[in-house]
Amino acid sequence: METSVALDFLGELRRTHMCGDLRAADEGKTVLLMGWVHRRRDLGGVIFLHLRDRDGVTQLVFREDAEASIHDRAALVRGEYVIAVEGVVAKRTPETINPNLATGEVEVVVSKLWILNESRTPPFPMEEEVDVSEDVRLKYRYVDLRRPHMQRNVILRSKISFAVREFLYSQGFLEIETPFMTSSTPEGARDYLVPSRVQPGTFYALPQSPQVFKQLLMVSGFEKYFQIVRCFRDEDLRADRQPEFTQIDLEMSFPQQERIFEVIEPLVQRVCAVAGYQVPQRFPRLTYAQAMQRYGIDKPDCRIPPMHQVSDLIPELANNNLPLMAIHIPGTGAPSRKERDELKAFGQERGLRVYDDPKRLERDFPEKMAQVRERCGAAENDLLVLATWGGEPKGHLPDVTTYQACGQLRLYCAQKFNDRHKLLDPKNFQFLWVVDFPMFEWDEEEQRWNAAHHPFTSVHDEDLDKLTADPARCRAKSYDLVLNGVELGSGSIRIHRRDVQAKVFAALGMADDEARRRFGHLLDALEFGAPPHGGIALGLDRLVMILAGETSIRDVIPFPKTARGTDLMCNAPSAVSEKQLRELGIAVRGQGK
Ligand code: ASP
Repeated sequence: METSVALDFLGELRRTHMCGDLRAADEGKTVLLMGWVHRRRDLGGVIFLHLRDRDGVTQLVFREDAEASIHDRAALVRGEYVIAVEGVVAKRTPETINPNLATGEVEVVVSKLWILNESRTPPFPMEEEVDVSEDVRLKYRYVDLRRPHMQRNVILRSKISFAVREFLYSQGFLEIETPFMTSSTPEGARDYLVPSRVQPGTFYALPQSPQVFKQLLMVSGFEKYFQIVRCFRDEDLRADRQPEFTQIDLEMSFPQQERIFEVIEPLVQRVCAVAGYQVPQRFPRLTYAQAMQRYGIDKPDCRIPPMHQVSDLIPELANNNLPLMAIHIPGTGAPSRKERDELKAFGQERGLRVYDDPKRLERDFPEKMAQVRERCGAAENDLLVLATWGGEPKGHLPDVTTYQACGQLRLYCAQKFNDRHKLLDPKNFQFLWVVDFPMFEWDEEEQRWNAAHHPFTSVHDEDLDKLTADPARCRAKSYDLVLNGVELGSGSIRIHRRDVQAKVFAALGMADDEARRRFGHLLDALEFGAPPHGGIALGLDRLVMILAGETSIRDVIPFPKTARGTDLMCNAPSAVSEKQLRELGIAVRGQGK
């Protein structure tokens, strides 16, 4: 394609400053700046350009009375052209100072201009917010990433990664790489497979996590490992999922759970400080059982008060022995009839019997309701909804089924009235550790036990003999870090004994030969002096998303995929040539067959 203006070469030109640097004190200096043309204003006799680079924006002035050729050439320049300029820093007159720019007190009066490249008109303007579909942004991602908003997100991400490295190095952790082309690591998703050309018909799996490798590094004696690492999981995509995502992954030898927390709490504190937020030095701990009873979920949003069990106060309203729960949302005022009907319908759809009429409850049970209020710490203006299970007890643990449904109603109410109570402030960071998860989860469909975390997780010492006798009651040495209802990471103390690992595989219904085939290397390693060890992985994308104040992880991943797993810019995934398939010994059968 022909260029529409004659272009200059970079040659030996070198910047003296970045576009965010210049201040009034630089007046009179001759400077050389480079960047993109952000805005242009042509007033005839004088042309103003805003020049932008990663660090900021500086106003350039091209006067007609300077060298005419420069002014004429500046008239050719359009938005997003790449230019270099030399000029002298001048103070602006008081009325023209721009308080919105860090460099707003000065401008550069240009004496030399080099046009280094032109640009097509971008598909959307380089503004904070643009009114354009996400698909267009993703197709032209390199342009989208120029917008100040996206620049801030990517820069924040980089600073966070740096803070993580700096902190973990300071604590004696080593950054050690693990392979991407490997065999399957179970984390509950499908694997992405990579065919081998040299051994046709065989496949590598991309790691769902470096789990087994980091454990092997502990067997090898490295003591403290970390990696900011890409993980690959082929699962049905949801708004906050990506097929490849990044974890802050770490492992330590000889830790108790608290030793892991002692690393993660200050790490998270540092990372929040990078984003400008102060968070407490220690996060509360809650057992899984407590989380379920109080919040009906294993990742509680602690910005909203917990539920309280009030069966003992008003047994008349409970369903047999199932719990009667009081849901308390402060500061909502009295809900309207319509709102009450909506929340009642929401609860009923989930199997609950909902007592939503506060006046009626107060009338029928005046003293008891006063006790309920006291237990919940509820004020006059607060919403109190009572709920219990509506029909026949349901599920493996009917109490838990009731807590879960009430927990959903609690979140629904909190969201519904958020504009009144404003509890769900995204900048109120309520971190929490949830500990002592169950070791196994019952899989109704497959009629068998699955590992609740992963099969390398240790059971509580005192629950070891329940492994085969009573798997439902086995507690795991596993823990989740939760922030405002989002699971930020999970980890566990691992099994380091060969005999225990074999028992867990057996409890999961994995035959010996299958265990050997899939994890023979780990089982062998456990026979060569494996130390007690444990670790955790935190989701970097989600952490950055929350700290950047975003609601989609796609806005903090430079080159993300759509909800259907497509890269709209590179057009991936895509078909490959017959020749490539032949070399790999692969025949494509058609879609999903
Ligand atoms: N590998 C686990 C995960 O990806 C984390 C861990 O147990 O350290 O969730």
